[in-house]
Order: sequence, then structure tokens, then C-alpha cells
Amino acid sequence: MKRRDLLKSALGLSASLVGMSAINPLYANDDLEGFRGPEVPDVNAIKVSDRSYTIPALGSVPTPDNFGMFSNPGFIVTSEGVVVVDTGSSVQIGEMVLRQIKKVTNKPVIKVINTHFHGDHWLGNHAFVAAYPNVDIYSHQLCIDNLKAGGDQFWFDFMQTNTNNKITGTVVSLPNKTLKGGEAIKLGDTTLKIHHFGKMHTDSDLAVQVVEDSSLYTGDMVMRRVANMEDGSYLGTINGLQKMIDMKLNHYIPMHGAHDSVKLLEEGKEFMETIYNQTAKYYDEGLSDFEMKPKIMAEPFMKNVASQWPGYESAIGKFIVVAIAEVENNLF
Ligand SMILES: [Zn+2]
Repeated sequence: MKRRDLLKSALGLSASLVGMSAINPLYANDDLEGFRGPEVPDVNAIKVSDRSYTIPALGSVPTPDNFGMFSNPGFIVTSEGVVVVDTGSSVQIGEMVLRQIKKVTNKPVIKVINTHFHGDHWLGNHAFVAAYPNVDIYSHQLCIDNLKAGGDQFWFDFMQTNTNNKITGTVVSLPNKTLKGGEAIKLGDTTLKIHHFGKMHTDSDLAVQVVEDSSLYTGDMVMRRVANMEDGSYLGTINGLQKMIDMKLNHYIPMHGAHDSVKLLEEGKEFMETIYNQTAKYYDEGLSDFEMKPKIMAEPFMKNVASQWPGYESAIGKFIVVAIAEVENNLF
């Protein structure tokens, strides 16, 4: 059984959903056809630097009360138009992002970049396709592959379930262009550099650097939140975060939690190193995951810093299980 299918069955979702066509509008429940989830109230964009904006999430996990807005969409205002980095979990969130862009500039949205395949980063694409039918939507090829293999339906259902169907009306709108990292996109007064550091949070992660602003949208490769490592790699994350630290930029803008200086990356790296290195050590000593857990949670960084992050208590056990799998994998 593939990991994705395991996750599906763990969430009580039917594996038979995989393979449904992505070109049909997807509704969790036929009774909801023709209805639409409620509008998402405005959340003002925060200006991080000259061109780089972020719209803060309404919560750290998706709920009916926060309309499933648990990630931070971003946008970059260039002299040629606006580039959106991640569009939120629904058409309603995408529309709200569009309203915030219009408060800042009259320029059109010319490009959308989805940093990876998790649903809170691309389900809002629908709003941008509706407003700008010719807009280019970019992601890594592996993001498109994942969504076409059933990830699209999985994430639609995940968001519907967690918001009590508030994303109803959202139509899956997949990326239609690919980036693989290493590209420089010149847009008038702004240069965007695209980065892919291999498998970190997923195998499809993209980061977007705004060269003139010394800023970097990090996707979910770092966040002050303990969320989801099931699609990722500890060693890949540690390695990639070091590369981002070495870029020595002024602003790092995550899609969960507040933007910050390089401190954000240093803490993220220490978190991954603590879990991975301690897990490897205790694995060597023959300890089981539940024997490791209290020892790892007693590490100073975990006790003093990571324990303050949303999701820590509920996710730390899962993080250790994923780390054990990676330690075992690296033995053979
Ligand atoms: Zn993610």
C-alpha cells in the first residue's frame, strides 16, 4: 500500500476516489451541487518588503470557523504585473486574495506559482483562472504528477471534510506550466529566481526568491508549526535549509507562521536535526518510538522552542515514526 493510500484510509476516505477525472468539477457530495460555500472575510496583506506581500492565515489547522484558511498566500508586485505564490485552500480564499491584491495595485495577476501539492497551496487557483483565463500557473512537474494521480481529489475532500463543506464551489484547477528550479524570471523591475533543493517537505517543493527585495518565499520547507512530514525527508530538509541559510537574505516568508530573518531557518533546521539525530541514536540503542518520544521531547530545543509551536503535542509522535522510517531506509 502506498503511503498516500495509507493516509487516505487513516482519514477514512475511500481509495476508490483515486483516479477520478480531474477535468470534472469535483464535489464532495452531489447534494451540494449548485451551492457555494460562504465568502471568506478580508484579511489585509502584510508588506514584508518593497514588492513582497503575505496574507496571514486565520488558523494553524483547517476548521469550519476559519474557512480552511490555515496557510499564508503571498504575492509579488512587479512593474509588469502581480505574481501570486500559493492561492489558499478554496476558490473563496483565492477570491479574498484577489481583493487584497486590488487594494495594493491595479496591475493584473500575470503568474501564479504553487510551491507544492498540498491542497492549502493550490485549491485557490480556481479564482485566478476565473479572473484571468490566460494566467500561467506554475509548479514542479512532480506536483502536477501527484495531483493527477489522485492528490487533487484527496485534497479537495480533505478540505471539505475539515471545513464542513465551506469550500463548495471550488473547481480543481491544476498548474499548466512547470518549473524545475534554477530559472530566473525577469519581469520589468523585478527578477524572480526559482529554487528546488530536492526532496524536503515534499519532492515537489519550489522556493521563490525576489532578488531586488532580498526575500524568499519558502513554501512549507520551513514553518513555525509542526504539521506534516509524511511526504518529506529529514536529511533533505536539513540539507536544503542550510542552502537557504547560505543565501543570506533579509526576509524569509513561510506559508505557515510569521515571516522572519534567517532565525526562522536556523530554528527549523535545529528542529529537524534534533528529531533525526536523536531518533537515529535511540534506534541504534534499540528503543521503540514510544520509548524515544519522552527523551526527544526533553531535549532543550524541543522543550524551550518547538513545544511552543502550533501542532507540537499532536504531531511529534508522528514525526518520530517518520524519522524512524528514514533512519531504517538509510541503513540499507
Ligand atoms: Zn505542505
